[in-house]
Amino acid sequence: PSITRGVTMEIPVVSWDDIGGLKDVKKKLQQAVEWPLKHSSAFSRLGISPMRGILLHGPPGCSKTTLAKAAACAAQASFFSLSGAELFSMYVGEGEALLRNTFRKARLAAPSIIFFDEADVVGAKSFSTADFTVRLLKTSMSTAICSYFSLAAYFCHFDDILNFYMFICNGRGGGSNGSTTVGERLLSTLLTEMDGLEQAKGILVLAATNRPYAMDDALMRPGRFDLVSCLLSTLILYVPPPDLEARYDILRVHTRKMKVENDIDLRRIAEDTELFTGAELEGLCNEAGIVALREDISATVVCNRHFQAVMRSLKPALTRQEID
Ligand code: ATP
Repeated sequence: PSITRGVTMEIPVVSWDDIGGLKDVKKKLQQAVEWPLKHSSAFSRLGISPMRGILLHGPPGCSKTTLAKAAACAAQASFFSLSGAELFSMYVGEGEALLRNTFRKARLAAPSIIFFDEADVVGAKSFSTADFTVRLLKTSMSTAICSYFSLAAYFCHFDDILNFYMFICNGRGGGSNGSTTVGERLLSTLLTEMDGLEQAKGILVLAATNRPYAMDDALMRPGRFDLVSCLLSTLILYVPPPDLEARYDILRVHTRKMKVENDIDLRRIAEDTELFTGAELEGLCNEAGIVALREDISATVVCNRHFQAVMRSLKPALTRQEID
């Protein structure tokens, strides 16, 4: 396999309206991404540095990737996608080469967004994960911008953030016998590239993870206030599973292009799909269409009963425990 595999650049065609719910997240991301990429001169004018890294965290299938693509589309930025798991599974040296190559291409194609999915896979295994996270996320936002982004809102999910941070810190010293592990080498390359971003204009790294929670209760105790000040210069966005209103919105997004019966009650469907993620709701809409075709290959509309038939057979992957 070639060392350049996986480095694909795209200009995504995803609008903010393709994402149901998540009004707050979209607004914060919009500003955080569009401002530095589109208005970098305004930052220079005020003598402040735009952020270089943002972390999106939350359960799978709740649109972290789609948000990153919508942000790239809105900012007319080139979009490069990397996966921690993919990097980790590569032959020695390949992952580092892929990373370097991606950053090089992103610099050439700026404004660019590098989307780093499953960031925890690389991060969690290495001694210097904390450095990585801090450098990735502890951006040089000014206090004014921090308050603009309404930090109070972040602290609604403070425990998740704290968990993630402590989980990451717990990885420090994790190298098994002092030898350089794959994760350490990848991280070191990533850190070098991230440092390079200080000079490069118009490149933003968006990292995503589903696993901010893997931590021991004992880790919750120390350093809470220290952590608050540490997080003040960080943009960490929790992407939650959809609530009722958001589910209704998502169903509307995914039935927009479908021919659905006029009297279809999306609100009722939203009520009956508690704990469904955006991905599952999208699947539900598609599957309802397939049921309609199975029933009658010349069907022209998808009806409520088709949705009901699918809902009877679908179980959400998330549990209440996981999101409370
Ligand atoms: P993972 O953590 O597994 O990578 P993710 O959080 O990145 O998942 P996406 O890949 O963005 O999730 O979403 C999966 C699918 O679900 C996409 O096709 C997307 O269209 C749909 N989807 C998820 N959330 C929403 C939403 N809020 N509105 C519309 N579609 C959504």
